[in-house]
Amino acid sequence: MDGIGISAGIAIGKVLVYKEAELIIEKKQITNIKDEIKRLKMSIERATKEIDELYKEMLSTVGKYEAAIFNAHKMILNDPKFIDSIKSRINEHKVNAEYAIREISDYYISIFKNMEDEYLKARALDIEDISKRLVRILLGVKNKDLRSIKEECILVAEKLTPSDIAQMNKDMVMAIVTERGGRTSHTSIMIRAMEIPYVTGIKDIIKKVEDGENIIVDGSKGLVITNPSQEQIEEYRAKKYEFVRIKDEIKRIKGLRSISKDGVEVRLAANIGNPKDVEKVLENDGQGIGLYRSEFLYLNRDSVPSEEEQFNAYRFVAEKMGGKPVVARTLDVGGDKHVYCLNLPKESNPFLGYRAIRLCLDMEDIFKIQLRAILKASAYGNIKIAFPMVSSIEEIRRAKALLEEVKEELRLKRIPFNENLKIGMMVETPAAAIHSNIFAEEVDFFSIGTNDLIQYTLAVDRENEAISHLYSQYDPAVLKLIKMIIDNGHRAGIKVAMCGEAASDEKLIPVFLAMGLDEFSMNPSSLLKSKWIIKNTCKKEIEPMIETILSLPTAKEVEEFIDENILKKEEMNP
Ligand code: PEP
Ligand code: MG
Repeated sequence: MDGIGISAGIAIGKVLVYKEAELIIEKKQITNIKDEIKRLKMSIERATKEIDELYKEMLSTVGKYEAAIFNAHKMILNDPKFIDSIKSRINEHKVNAEYAIREISDYYISIFKNMEDEYLKARALDIEDISKRLVRILLGVKNKDLRSIKEECILVAEKLTPSDIAQMNKDMVMAIVTERGGRTSHTSIMIRAMEIPYVTGIKDIIKKVEDGENIIVDGSKGLVITNPSQEQIEEYRAKKYEFVRIKDEIKRIKGLRSISKDGVEVRLAANIGNPKDVEKVLENDGQGIGLYRSEFLYLNRDSVPSEEEQFNAYRFVAEKMGGKPVVARTLDVGGDKHVYCLNLPKESNPFLGYRAIRLCLDMEDIFKIQLRAILKASAYGNIKIAFPMVSSIEEIRRAKALLEEVKEELRLKRIPFNENLKIGMMVETPAAAIHSNIFAEEVDFFSIGTNDLIQYTLAVDRENEAISHLYSQYDPAVLKLIKMIIDNGHRAGIKVAMCGEAASDEKLIPVFLAMGLDEFSMNPSSLLKSKWIIKNTCKKEIEPMIETILSLPTAKEVEEFIDENILKKEEMNP
């Protein structure tokens, strides 16, 4: 079965199908109200304990901002209005606790669901989640608990959420296969960071396999093989062995420079969303932070982070990186990133709407707080700034003018900052790419955001699973734009980096190296592998192939060409 390979690696093992338990609630007339209230209390206590554990788990595996969702759940459980309504229902209607919970939750869910405001709308999901948890506890129904997986397995599910991944017993999960998921979703990014092979996009997968059945998963190719023959098992065992051998070899290049066979050196930097990710960057030889997604500071909270809080986060990262460059990207919200604290309007076309730099230029006060925090932190390390989703020259000029205003304020107050702070922009809209010769005159560096550049160039929503097969980093139209951006940047004498997911694509790294890309920025867990690829690539040998690659008509042909002519030749196909 063909799907989308999200995280590389091979696994051969037994299936564990993960399904959410079905909750059947019967209405029962009760006689002992006191006992029923006791049951309700017990379920609240147990739910609180479960949520506390999930919070801790998320905090240690993902981060503070993602963990905050569970604080919101606890707030609902402690909300007297919600709990008292359930108690009154039990009292007045003499019904069982689970029935009362469902009635009251349904009432609140329908109110919140119909609200215009995105933040309040999302509360409906939280209430649904809480009420399911309470009912599940009362009915004594157990979800297949991902935490207590005791035997090695290949986890198969329709869809997994970041919290499923956070609580999963990672040591026992050899691979993951889902029907729904996206290349750039949080779930995928987490699974990749854990180095677990992952394939998504296989329709009805939970109906096609059974618990305990043997399957093969090839995360590099996006393949799932059911009922494998002995021959196939042998073949994939050998591939797995080779994959592990290369992985070991990769570990041994720690500390070495990222320099190609023919002596071309590039910078390998990392993308982070949370200050504590810096440890992982340094552990994996990251030569800088090519993208600090500052919006993670704004997620899952009721108020905008203060200047002090933002300053502390940037300063922490800059100091920990000890003089290595850190690109602080200014607030990139809207699109798929909902930030409740900004109370953004609901849009029918959010990716083409009120997003990133557009929103910042409109909310100058909030933008200036962030600029001030970044500037102040620039006195403590090698911070650069980058503006996201720029599509017109006016935007970049206005952003620079606001930065100047903030600099002037700081000068007047004699607050130190780096006067030579480098200013860059994300090139992630077709307009910025096509016009990159002009933009290059306005900034000190480019950073290509392929995640968005692909979606806007191909007009394929990066989050929409129904069309994810149309989203491809190998599309020749996208590669042509990338080449154009690199050439235009270099003609103007500026460096060109890439920080979208394509920067760590094993097949494309040699191609981008040959196109002259100066910096590759990626998930910290991909750094050593990418260095290994660069060390095994001869730039001069690939350069003459670029013209051919760009002349191919389809993404499929591009991928096949690279497989045949680059990976085989360089013996890099794990
Ligand atoms: C991109 O668009 O490639 C990018 C790196 O930004 P984000 O994924 O945060 O939109
Ligand atoms: Mg982007």
